[in-house]
Amino acid sequence: MSQHAEYSRRRFLGLAGITSMAAGLTCATGAAGYLLITAVRRSHGAAGPTATPRPLALKQIDRPTIISRAGWGAREPDHEAENESGFYSLLNEEGWREYEGDLRDTYTTVVVHHSVIVESDDEATMREIQDLHMDDRGWADIAYHFGVGTTGVVFEGRAMDVRGTHVEGANTGSIGVVFFGNFEETVPTAEQIVSGQRLIDWLALRLELTHLAGHKEFNDFTDCPGRNLSYYLEALAESAGLELGTSGYGQPKT
Ligand SMILES: [Zn+2]
Repeated sequence: MSQHAEYSRRRFLGLAGITSMAAGLTCATGAAGYLLITAVRRSHGAAGPTATPRPLALKQIDRPTIISRAGWGAREPDHEAENESGFYSLLNEEGWREYEGDLRDTYTTVVVHHSVIVESDDEATMREIQDLHMDDRGWADIAYHFGVGTTGVVFEGRAMDVRGTHVEGANTGSIGVVFFGNFEETVPTAEQIVSGQRLIDWLALRLELTHLAGHKEFNDFTDCPGRNLSYYLEALAESAGLELGTSGYGQPKT
């Protein structure tokens, strides 16, 4: 095994190792979660791996529990939105675009974001993001397909069969996942990393994705998803069997 492969495997084990421990936490702060994960990763690194991860093809990943749009009180899409007006056509390329088929030919890349804004609870944050995107950015709906709250709750955002508006120049064929927080300044919670990992593992299988990228890898004008979430991207990609970076991105076949 090459040095690189061995290093990557240890990173994977470190991330996977927090799953059972984090489930027992009731009030982990961001800082505690960060320390917990770091400690587990270091202990694996020092002692060497104690288990062999199964190849992705053998994994059975159930759809994670996802709070529906109705569950968090989403607004209906606005098809008269200023910057996403009407429906997609060759004459209206910025319009609301609904993909066809089962989406495996549509998506290649999951793009990870941070929300920057955080409200008093996760549902309120999800509603605030939607309001910001519809009322200030002029989009027809929330930009992202999924949100991952600080408590680890996962929310349905824009329908998965509709093009997002989350990454400039690369929305068609990329699925957007936002983690709540400003990760230039704070760190993700342990629950958030575990839930995000499960969600991305499931998306990678369901959509037959090939790549994972942070938003700033596509758009260098942004810090998104923040350095403290970017820190986890290699391990999240490894867990889901994805390559890290933008090189898999392409226009969908459908
Ligand atoms: Zn972003």
